Amino acid sequence: MKRLFYEDAYISSWETYIENTETKDGKYYIVLSETAFYPEAGGQPSDSGTIDGIKVLDLLEKDGIIYHILDRMPENKYVKCEIDFQRRFDHMQQHSGQHILSSIFYNLYNGRTAGFHLGEDYVTIDIALPEISNEMIKNVEDKANERIYKNLEIKTYILNYEEALSHQLRKLPPSKDDIRIVEIENTDCTPCCGTHVKRTGEIEIIKILKAEKYKGMTRIYFKCGKRAFCDYQNKHNIVSNLNKILSCKEDEILERLNQKETLINELSVQLKKLKETLIDLEVSDIIRNTNKNIICKIYNDKNFDEIQRIAKSILEKGSYTILFLSVVDNRILLCHNGNFSTNCGFIFKENIKSFNGQGGGGEKQAQGGFKIREDAINFYEFLKEKILKC
Ligand SMILES: [Zn+2]
Repeated sequence: MKRLFYEDAYISSWETYIENTETKDGKYYIVLSETAFYPEAGGQPSDSGTIDGIKVLDLLEKDGIIYHILDRMPENKYVKCEIDFQRRFDHMQQHSGQHILSSIFYNLYNGRTAGFHLGEDYVTIDIALPEISNEMIKNVEDKANERIYKNLEIKTYILNYEEALSHQLRKLPPSKDDIRIVEIENTDCTPCCGTHVKRTGEIEIIKILKAEKYKGMTRIYFKCGKRAFCDYQNKHNIVSNLNKILSCKEDEILERLNQKETLINELSVQLKKLKETLIDLEVSDIIRNTNKNIICKIYNDKNFDEIQRIAKSILEKGSYTILFLSVVDNRILLCHNGNFSTNCGFIFKENIKSFNGQGGGGEKQAQGGFKIREDAINFYEFLKEKILKC
């Protein structure tokens, strides 16, 4: 079985014959005489594509054989194969970009790459350094992009173990077998089984997005090529919208947002004070207009926290039993300051379930919540009748 992706990483369609087929769990495991389908290895994901128009569901490499998994057999032994080259080329851009970044972290800061992940959404390398500063990231990013502008050649070749040891490789060969080397002119030389672009110019751009601590190392998130360009387009749209919303230039956005945050904080303080004043007025009004020591009220415009604060303030001014309902959040409060025989928690515990509510409390205070407003109002009326009888 010939691995076409090692002869030429740019082959995207070819014709070949089926060498062997195995079936397992209703799926067909097909071995081709020649394949350009890259099976997941070394951090690079599998290719996708079709064999005679039938979608390749997955690829499996076992004992040096690449199996193409299909859910039906092609009719002919001689088949036309195609890989999704847009996806493959994206993998090539990210993978070659990764080699450049890893080599620069290694050469400048002795930061070895301990992990590489190439996913649909993000690409990462784990650099074996506990701390990487913003300055280091900027430096690596600048140097990596300089390597792209120079449009350096990327070569692949096979060495035996002794030859590999005499080369200045970024990492040691994984075994004593012959080893495939990927060399980026004047930049990097390392064992690798992945597919790469021919010249660094094809990577187009490398942008580091963020760095975060990971198991004593630093995980670097980055994007290369079209991914980085799309990211720039998205971010440019966001910035353009912010320009319009904030009526300012790009370099004024952060200052504007800081000003707005300060204003929001000041307004929040003022709003809090105003709410407290309103509560005081509400409390005075209630006390002035009641000649009983039982106060019942339904609030349409105040949430539970607010009615709780009103109740607390009333109880500080005298002996009352208070029954409040907030229909904003369908919650009920029953409380008094100890001079009444009503056991608030007990009434709730005994009755609230038959009104489809949940809640409870202690002797002097209980609260309950309801999914439906009607249930909350019915329980409120029930409590009102009960406490007025006491
Ligand atoms: Zn590699």
